[in-house]
Amino acid sequence: MDTPLYGTPKSHHAPLGPLSPPLMRASSTAQPDAESVRALGTAQRSGEFYQRMGHENCRQFESLAAMREGSDGAVSFASGMAAMSGSMLALLRVGDRVLVPHEVYGGTAAFAAQDLPRFGVEVIRFRALELGDLRKGLAQRPKLVVLETPINPTLRLVDLAACALLCKEAGATSLVDGTFAPPPIQRPIALGVDLVVHSATKFYGGHSDLLAGVACGRHEHMRLIEQFRRRTGAILAPDPAWLLCRSWPTLDLRINAQQDAARELAHRLSALVREGQIDDVIYPGMPSHPDRDLCARQMHGGGTMVSLIVPGGLDRARRVFDALQVVARGPSLGSVESLASLPSFTTHALLSAEERRAAGIPDGLLRISVGLEGAAAIAADIEQAVRRTA
Ligand code: PLP
Repeated sequence: MDTPLYGTPKSHHAPLGPLSPPLMRASSTAQPDAESVRALGTAQRSGEFYQRMGHENCRQFESLAAMREGSDGAVSFASGMAAMSGSMLALLRVGDRVLVPHEVYGGTAAFAAQDLPRFGVEVIRFRALELGDLRKGLAQRPKLVVLETPINPTLRLVDLAACALLCKEAGATSLVDGTFAPPPIQRPIALGVDLVVHSATKFYGGHSDLLAGVACGRHEHMRLIEQFRRRTGAILAPDPAWLLCRSWPTLDLRINAQQDAARELAHRLSALVREGQIDDVIYPGMPSHPDRDLCARQMHGGGTMVSLIVPGGLDRARRVFDALQVVARGPSLGSVESLASLPSFTTHALLSAEERRAAGIPDGLLRISVGLEGAAAIAADIEQAVRRTA
C-alpha cells in the first residue's frame, strides 16, 4: 500500500540525538520545488507541508498508540469526542444503521441522538449487558456497533470478545470506546474488536493538561478516518501531541500504580460497608463484582476507577463530595490527581431519578478516579468525609 499518512507502529531502537523530540509548531512548511508541493498537496506523500494534513508530532503519538493497541495504525484528533464523532462520520453514510448502547458516555449518546439522524443515519439503542439485545439489533443489519467498557459510572463490563464475534458474523464493524481502561489494562484489538477509540485527554495524557483523542484499527478504516480528518480539520495540534509523547514513558507506571491504589482503596472502603457507613463499593477486580470472571478474562486488573454508594441519596452524596479534602472535585478522569464525580449532577444529570435507577445508578453514587496520592491517604479522605456527614 501507499505510505500511510498517519502513524504506524515503529520498531524500538536506542534513541540517538535529543532525548525529547522537537516540537514543530509551523502551520506551513516551505518546499524546494513544484514536484514536492504536488506530492504533498495531493496527499501522495506524507511529510511536513500544512499542519491540518498531518505533522510529525501527531504522527509520533499515533505510532506509539498503534504500537500499544496492536493496530495497523492510529489517527489522532483534537479531543476524544472529535475522535469518536470523526470515526463514526468517516464510516457511515445516509441510510446506514448504527447500534449504540444505552450505557455509553453522555457525549457519545448526545452525538448519536442529535447529530447522526441529521445526516440520515438511523441510531438503534441496545442494552450493552445483554448479548440477546445485541443479537436483536444485529438482525437489523447495522453498519457499525458502538461499545464501551467499563461502563461509566456503574463499572459493569461488556464482553468484548463475544460482542466482536457477533458483529463479525453479522458483517458489522465494531468500535469500542476504551477510555476507561487503556493499555496495559485492556487491549480490545486483540479481543477481535475492529476499532478502538480513546479520549487521550484521560490516561494517555494523564496530567490534566491537554485535550486529545485517538482512533486505532486496520488500514482500511484508518485511511478513511484520516481522510475525513483532513477534510474536516479536527487534527491533534503539535503541543498536545508533544505532551502525549512526554506522558508516554510513564503510562504503564502511572496506570499500574493507580490500579494498585484503586484495588487497595476498594478493599479499605469495604470496611466502611461492613460497618454500615456506606451501602456499597463497586470495583471490577473485587470478588463481589458481578463481572469479576469477565474482568479476569478481559482486563489485566480491575482498573483505576472505584464507585461508592452512600446512604441518604443525592443530598448525602453531595455533602460527602463537598467534604473531600484530598480528592479533587471535577469532571474527567485518568490523571495523576484523584478526582471525584457525582454522576447525578454531571454525566447523567439529564436523566430523571427514575431513569438513573433503571440504568443502575443510585442517587448516592460517587465515582472516584484514583490518582497517585496513595491509597491510604485517599481512603482516609473518603472515610473522614463519610463520617463527618453521617
Ligand atoms: N469517552 C469517554 C468514556 C469519556 O469519559 C469522555 C470524556 O469524559 C469522552 C469519550 C470524551 O473525551 P473528550 O473530553 O476528550 O472529548
